[in-house]
Amino acid sequence: MTSTIHLSLEVPVKYRAEICVIGAGPSGIAAAVSAVRLGRKVILLDANSFPGGLCTAARVPVLMTYSDGTRILMKGFGEDFLQRLGTGGPLEAEHVKRVFDAMLDEAGVEVLYGCHFFAADCENAKIRSVCFQSISGNFAVEAELFIDASGDGVLAVAVGCEYAVGGDSGETMPPTLCSLWSGIDWEAYRAGRTFSHNDENMLEALSAAFASGELSVPDWHHTGMTRLTPQLAGANIGHVFNVDVMDERSVSEALVTARRQLVEYEKFYQKHIAGFENAFIAASGSMLGVRETRRIIGEYLLCRDDYLARRSFPDEIGRYNFPADLHPVQPTREMLEEHKRLFSGERYKRGESYGIPYRTLIPLHSNNLLVCGRCISCDRYVFASIRVIPGCFITGQAAGFAAALCVTQKCSPKELDSATLRTTMAKHQALLQ
Ligand SMILES: Cc1cc2nc3c(=O)[nH]c(=O)nc-3n(C[C@H](O)[C@H](O)[C@H](O)COP(=O)(O)OP(=O)(O)OC[C@H]3O[C@@H](n4cnc5c(N)ncnc54)[C@H](O)[C@@H]3O)c2cc1C
Repeated sequence: MTSTIHLSLEVPVKYRAEICVIGAGPSGIAAAVSAVRLGRKVILLDANSFPGGLCTAARVPVLMTYSDGTRILMKGFGEDFLQRLGTGGPLEAEHVKRVFDAMLDEAGVEVLYGCHFFAADCENAKIRSVCFQSISGNFAVEAELFIDASGDGVLAVAVGCEYAVGGDSGETMPPTLCSLWSGIDWEAYRAGRTFSHNDENMLEALSAAFASGELSVPDWHHTGMTRLTPQLAGANIGHVFNVDVMDERSVSEALVTARRQLVEYEKFYQKHIAGFENAFIAASGSMLGVRETRRIIGEYLLCRDDYLARRSFPDEIGRYNFPADLHPVQPTREMLEEHKRLFSGERYKRGESYGIPYRTLIPLHSNNLLVCGRCISCDRYVFASIRVIPGCFITGQAAGFAAALCVTQKCSPKELDSATLRTTMAKHQALLQ
């Protein structure tokens, strides 16, 4: 039996803002910058020491699909990020941190790093303040409106919002520890056989390595490597299976396992892939790349039917199109085939997309909270699409605009007229027309 202790804490209110955003990942930054665009006073707090969330801390190597082939879907904040990034997609973490730093600084968002959210003061479904632990001790932030951009829904859960995790049995996609590689001879690579992530050449090399034991886990879902700069590549390879992503002990063990597995992949690439003979891992993520945690249940649950129908909504705050990238929970060839069936088989054609209703950002039973990014209200299938960075930019930006309007109009997110939200976003070139 787990025993519990009871604490009664006095926490000083150290900061006051109109809008408080928890989490400086892609969605939280988009939210904070957008709310400031409407003239609101915003504070953004994060446990890490830099902006970007998984995008930088977990060394995610590339910006996923952001266009439907005819137009850019991530209007406004996402477009601005893309222009400043200047690579078209590859994400070199240090560069990305500086891009986000500049965007936050120019907007005038107050940003506090090294601040870990741990509690909320909430009465009658209204949050009064949120509490953080930092080098100065515990402190509280008072605000009128709160945005949970933590990816894990930490504030929403703390105030009692309902949520779901993973599939029917609670299974979640396996995490990956992404890594930074150097020492690659790209000319030799180009002159050799191609090895894109799951092509026949890669499957053949993997098969040999599984048989010889060079790779100890027969993980057929090899997601691959992206060239970031002339000297550097970002790798999203090697899943860790059977991890309880909601348990710190399991996540800690997974980090150690992942670092060990990476050494196996380093040797594998050196041996099997031309141009990689002298390649080495220069760094690994400072966070485990956990793909899937909580989805907060909101006023609307965006689901697979909506995706398949390419559905439009009167209150939509954007549209997206990435196919469901549900990484197999076990490393079998059969599960890889099932992944391909969904990912490729249900992929949209050029010009197609699905609408994202504003209601997916409004958790049930809360009067002054919005969610965005990984933890919006959707089923697991849509989650596997919208969880990537462009999707998080779209929902983050909308949460920021909505929060700002709620503060101005002194209304709750549920009371906010979605037509006004859409008109305001359109006026700021932040809505797909
Ligand atoms: C292995 C892996 C590979 C991926 N590959 C790609 C890819 O190639 N392309 C792509 O576009 N997307 C990719 N993604 C998805 C994408 O990176 C994330 O889903 C996206 O970053 C989520 O953005 P977010 O803002 O919702 O949350 P996150 O990026 O998770 O950011 C949440 C932030 O909240 C902070 N936070 C959490 N809890 C607290 C707390 N208690 N107190 C204070 N701060 C807190 C965290 O420190 C973090 O900075 C990948 C994800 C993973 C895991």
